Amino acid sequence: AGGAETRPFAADVAQILKLMVHSVYSDRDVFLRELLSNAADACEKLRHLSLIDDTLAVGAEPFGIVIEVDGDNGTLAVIDNGIGMSREELTENLGTIARSGTRAFVEALSKKEDGSALIGQFGVGFYAAFMVAKEVVVTSRRAGAAEAWTWRSDGAGTFTVEPAGDDAPARGTRVTVVLADDARDYADAFRVEEVVRTHAAHIPVPIAIRTAGSAESRTLVDGTALWTRSRSSVTPEEYAEFFKTLAGETTDPALTVHYRAEGRQDYSVLAFVPGRTPFDLFNPDRKGRMKLYVRRVFITDEAALLPGWLRFVRGVVDSEDLPLNLSREMLQSNPLIDAIRKGLTGRILTELEKLAENDAASFLKIWDAFGAVIKEGLYEEPDRRDAIFKIARFRTTRGEGWRTLAEILADKKENQTALYYVLGESEAAVATSPHLEGYRARGIEVMLLTDPVDAFWVQTALGYEGKPFRSVTQGSADLDQIPLTAPQEGGEEAKAGDVAALVALVKQSLGDKVSDVRTSARLATSPVCLVAPEFGPDRQLEKLLSRSGE
Ligand code: ADP
Ligand code: MG
Repeated sequence: AGGAETRPFAADVAQILKLMVHSVYSDRDVFLRELLSNAADACEKLRHLSLIDDTLAVGAEPFGIVIEVDGDNGTLAVIDNGIGMSREELTENLGTIARSGTRAFVEALSKKEDGSALIGQFGVGFYAAFMVAKEVVVTSRRAGAAEAWTWRSDGAGTFTVEPAGDDAPARGTRVTVVLADDARDYADAFRVEEVVRTHAAHIPVPIAIRTAGSAESRTLVDGTALWTRSRSSVTPEEYAEFFKTLAGETTDPALTVHYRAEGRQDYSVLAFVPGRTPFDLFNPDRKGRMKLYVRRVFITDEAALLPGWLRFVRGVVDSEDLPLNLSREMLQSNPLIDAIRKGLTGRILTELEKLAENDAASFLKIWDAFGAVIKEGLYEEPDRRDAIFKIARFRTTRGEGWRTLAEILADKKENQTALYYVLGESEAAVATSPHLEGYRARGIEVMLLTDPVDAFWVQTALGYEGKPFRSVTQGSADLDQIPLTAPQEGGEEAKAGDVAALVALVKQSLGDKVSDVRTSARLATSPVCLVAPEFGPDRQLEKLLSRSGE
């Protein structure tokens, strides 16, 4: 362009740009997020400044962002009416990699470290546009300024700045991306709409889209993030609708948790327990689905914001403190994320406990759908075991209904030293187990554990309130100390000598198929049953293990 001044980028931007195009983000869509978040920042900045500086009167026009797509020319423009940039600011902000994190990145690069591994850790922001651009043209008018300027670069190492033409915005910035040949789909309104919904649906400034040459525009984002509103201002219908769009669900959530954490870290949470079991609940990847936002900008749904045993919880965490560009490693282990996970896990458990107290029917629906997953926490997170035991519900030999451990413990029999359970594949199958006869005859309540996970947590859970968990199929039943409640049918007691002779005979004929043959108080009407040794795996666990080994 005639009369334009050509300058080199201050840091080695060209080197970064080249790396970025090839490796930074696996997902090129994020360039639009970066441009939209800059545009929103510019609006927020002016909104704030105009409150403290009267020369920056903003007038009646509301803050907003327009995306203009032009399929014929293969361009996409992001237009905002925010603070804008002066000539100096264009040079400074877009010609220097100014952010501290990025500067550190450049230094690391010059020490010849592996750039592709490093790059994701640092914000590249605006430069992400070069992932999809042949050229980027930025025309900007600083709020209150008479003149406007145009910045232009192909990302190859230099940029130019020149006075803008008549089409400069009255206030704010227009970033025009001249799309590379392999990126022309970003000039398609539907494609762009999809990207906005995924990556920018909750940016706090309204976003509209229009096609070049058309006066009509369509609102894509209304500019309010639901979770930033106060709980009292959001209706149950709004929560439900948000949950359904977020989770792709058709049913209402069973529990909504909305709060703001303040203190060492500030973040907002809007989380939901779905109203039904999703089909992929038992996928082996056990991935959670919480979305992480940083200051209203979507970052990822891969951050470890909840433990695997709460993977069914859907929702949003919006942090005020995390950096916008988080590397994969940071998402998995980062002190800030760890602290959020801890706080969020505790909060969800408390909310479930409250629901169990205040609305038992709703809670039991949740337990019915997700109890099998929550119980994974009993062995994965020993620190949470007590809290999970508080909300855990069990089917027992008492019959219909769910029972808590506290209830089972309170109803224990005289001399009962353990909490008993039977493992099996279904309630119907275990309820008729001969192993239960001796317990029935003594009125002892036995937990019927039929989820695969049960075989694991009972091994590690140690016990509840000082009482160990003990399988009815395992070892000596130590039932002799507990009195029978019903008189035994079948008449006279067998003579001790006869019993010993019978045991010897059975032992001889079974040989080493069994390790021992014993008399037991375990049975009432059945003559014999198989039991596992006292200090070995339970029979149900053995079955599970041998099956998974196939
Ligand atoms: P960051 O947004 O993290 O500061 P970017 O690379 O995205 O980094 O942007 C660099 C700088 O350019 C911003 O800090 C801002 O000063 C300026 N900038 C970018 N886009 C705009 C815009 N639309 N309006 C005003 N300033 C902008
Ligand atoms: Mg930015």
